[in-house]
Amino acid sequence: PRTQLIGGNWKMNGDRNLVDVISATLNGASLASGVEVVVAPPAPYLALARSKFAGHIGVAAQNASSEKSGAFTGEISVDMLKDLSINWVILGHSERRELFGESDDTIGRKVVFAVKNGIKVIACVGEKLEHREAGKTTEVVFRQLEGIRAHLTPEDWAHIVVAYEPVWAIGTGKVATPQQAQEVHEQIRSWLASHVSPAVAEATRIIYGGSVNAKNSSTLQSEKDIDGFLVGGASLKADDFLTICHSKI
Ligand code: 13P
Repeated sequence: PRTQLIGGNWKMNGDRNLVDVISATLNGASLASGVEVVVAPPAPYLALARSKFAGHIGVAAQNASSEKSGAFTGEISVDMLKDLSINWVILGHSERRELFGESDDTIGRKVVFAVKNGIKVIACVGEKLEHREAGKTTEVVFRQLEGIRAHLTPEDWAHIVVAYEPVWAIGTGKVATPQQAQEVHEQIRSWLASHVSPAVAEATRIIYGGSVNAKNSSTLQSEKDIDGFLVGGASLKADDFLTICHSKI
């Protein structure tokens, strides 16, 4: 069975106090074996977070450059993350795609650069409402997946978690139904089977994101192709996030 992964994407929220509060809650909690937790605070807090969170809790950046170093004002390099013992990064989030103009190719290049340099990636895909309403969900999601796959070898997928985050569900309170999420997760897994390999499809964690909260997480978690969550707003509340970390049946 796949190890469940629960990610907390703080986005541009939080402060030193939140690092203290969330780490105090998670460090002392007994997490079920078979559940992996990764928190993604904003870049200025990564070093502090790595020092405060217990070693079994992963810390992720929310972005990383596809370039090694140089004149890229404002960017964060993979080497810097490794220097801080940060071994995860979220890439391809819809907010990066939409608000910061990151293309499928840009994201593919970031993903491969991170993976080849020893950083694990939560790679996000997901359709907008207009795509879903036009029956183009899989077309969009598969195109985003191909942007990533094109740069990778089958072995690289051991370091990738796919996050399916329908854009219409992010920050809206409109969570996908378990059936809606399961349907796309299954389609992503079949796509991996035919475009990478059946073994990679079986092993790759596919997590759901979009208005996950302490109330809806356990029903979503019971779907067979949902291997955890990428949580936004509810990851800022220690008790809610812990409840979600405990939602594995
Ligand atoms: P919300 O949980 O706030 O909807 O955000 C989801 C998300 O974008 C996580 O990356």
